Amino acid sequence: MLRLLHNASQPALKSTQRRFLTSRFYDRPTLDFLLFDNPAIITPPTDATTQQVLDSASSFVDRYHHLDPLFDKFEPQFDPAFMNDRSSPTVSPVKMHEQVKEVLDAYSEGGFTAMHEMDLPFPSLTAVSAITGSAFTSGVLGHWVLTQCAANLLKAFGSPDLVAKYHEPLTDGRWTGTMALSETQAGSSLVDISTKATPTDTPGTYRIKGNKMWTSGADHDMTENIIHMLLAKTPDNKISLFLVPKSIVNDDGSLGERNDYTINGVNHKMGCRGISNCYWSLGDNSDGATGYLIGEEGKGLQAMFLMMNEMRIHVGLSAALCGKRGHLESLNYALERKQGRSPTTKEKETIVNYADVKRMLLTQKVHSEGALALCLLASSLADSSKTSEEDKHVLDFLIPIVKSWPSEFCLEANKWAIQVLGGYGYTSDFPLSQIYRDNRLNMIHEGTHGIQSLDLLGRKIAGPGFPLLIERMAGCVERAAKTGDDEIVPMASHVKSAVERLVEVTKKLGGVGKSGDVQLMLANSHDYLNMAGTTVIGWLWLEMAIAAKAKSSDPSESFLHGKVNACQYFMIHELSKTKHQARLLESLDDTVIKTKVEEL
Ligand SMILES: Cc1cc2nc3c(=O)[nH]c(=O)nc-3n(C[C@H](O)[C@H](O)[C@H](O)COP(=O)(O)OP(=O)(O)OC[C@H]3O[C@@H](n4cnc5c(N)ncnc54)[C@H](O)[C@@H]3O)c2cc1C
Repeated sequence: MLRLLHNASQPALKSTQRRFLTSRFYDRPTLDFLLFDNPAIITPPTDATTQQVLDSASSFVDRYHHLDPLFDKFEPQFDPAFMNDRSSPTVSPVKMHEQVKEVLDAYSEGGFTAMHEMDLPFPSLTAVSAITGSAFTSGVLGHWVLTQCAANLLKAFGSPDLVAKYHEPLTDGRWTGTMALSETQAGSSLVDISTKATPTDTPGTYRIKGNKMWTSGADHDMTENIIHMLLAKTPDNKISLFLVPKSIVNDDGSLGERNDYTINGVNHKMGCRGISNCYWSLGDNSDGATGYLIGEEGKGLQAMFLMMNEMRIHVGLSAALCGKRGHLESLNYALERKQGRSPTTKEKETIVNYADVKRMLLTQKVHSEGALALCLLASSLADSSKTSEEDKHVLDFLIPIVKSWPSEFCLEANKWAIQVLGGYGYTSDFPLSQIYRDNRLNMIHEGTHGIQSLDLLGRKIAGPGFPLLIERMAGCVERAAKTGDDEIVPMASHVKSAVERLVEVTKKLGGVGKSGDVQLMLANSHDYLNMAGTTVIGWLWLEMAIAAKAKSSDPSESFLHGKVNACQYFMIHELSKTKHQARLLESLDDTVIKTKVEEL
């Protein structure tokens, strides 16, 4: 049960704004609407606890949000004097801002780290992260996201002994977890990792030697132990998954000697500075660091996909919430900022009334709320996949889109948020420069945009998920057409055409691939991902508009009519772009293939 149920006061908003803008940090009415009023896409949580955890998340944000800019300003420091210091479990060469621990402790003491053990629906957990994450774009809560994913991976594939020793401290907030996949020479292509694991005489225990790069939260001075989920190659040259603890855990659960790995430095990042990012080496002083096999030897990548898929939903979500946060911050500003004169009254005008400013705000709204709906849909599918093969296939198809569409389009949204503030948006006096820098990571980690688009077009379109998704989108169009509503019906016809275009383009590109010209098929994979993503978001907006209409008895009610209006904007200004994308993709343009390297 959550312990954090205090009622911290909201950061002040001017009275004129309170009517519809309830917080600069999260949009609770929209989250509630998505979660509870859109049963066609998100199975509404029926448990009594969901509202309570959402309230607690809001209180947490209201109380601690002011610390996040500090984490951006004071990035993790590396002190080489502590590189070989093993005098205590917490000692580390990586020094975090001291209040990082305060936020992490408050989060776990509030019971948020144990939430996953409460059997809450995944969309409820996603909605909590949407609230807490948007106030902490520095990624400080990424410590707990990684820890949770590591705990889930351990539970799914670890031996009972390993689960008994390591799972509880990972879920009760005592220890943190990481995912250690990338190496200097192996980022997108994990088959090229060179870290080696040699079996010892004790079954399941290995000696690990090698180097890891880019590991988020690989070291810090905040918890007694850190548990790495690490990929290494076994002597048969196959990739296996290992649990590598910072301190070895004795049979009675106490901490033993420090494992043999060395943190060699931190990467200095342009954003996401609430979490360290380290390069490190294993086994420098012995025949190897101790690692315990998780799952079967040689099946590490397959097991790791569980964690990576979960992380990909989180990456899409962090992009979506950066987009939403930028929307709220810039709306807040636009409601107060006076500039120029009204052409009618000749009085000083508040910029929110100018059409171009409204355009920038609407663009942010449709991108961020569409992305949020997509992440909640993915979470709902992750739950239902446990019993439905069909949902599993649909989710499998959607994962590259869930990871990538929000990362690109909500960064675009942040661009417009900065623009709404004019010169002030370009300064560090307002939070938008931080949000933009923090969001920029999302196109890179957990598989770059390019790699995700290759996965979607090169692999996923041939699976059973694509036709099933098309069926669901077509089903929505049919339902929408049947409403007979004069706002909904024209929007349904936009989605119908976009879905038909997507089917045609996919057929054509898939055909090129089947005929053997894979290079030509994949040459425009980025545009294909964007087209497919925009079509999916168009479908989700149509669902939201239908739900808003069904809920509203008063057509002038701003919140619900705002959803219908936003859907209309998306159809006309965004979904329409898929016409051009389809023409481009069907033309099988090979300019990039023909371009010689020396012409770049
Ligand atoms: C802040 C941060 C945090 C991270 N956290 C973690 C973590 O916790 N754990 C972890 O294991 N890793 C982590 N990573 C690593 C991240 O997953 C990799 O950076 C990412 O997968 C890309 O690998 P790379 O940097 O080696 O780039 P590369 O793989 O060298 O790619 C460079 C460019 O080439 C393109 N490219 C590469 N191969 C192909 C191809 N076959 N076809 C077309 N284009 C291609 C890519 O799309 C990219 O644009 C993190 C990275 C950052 C920056």
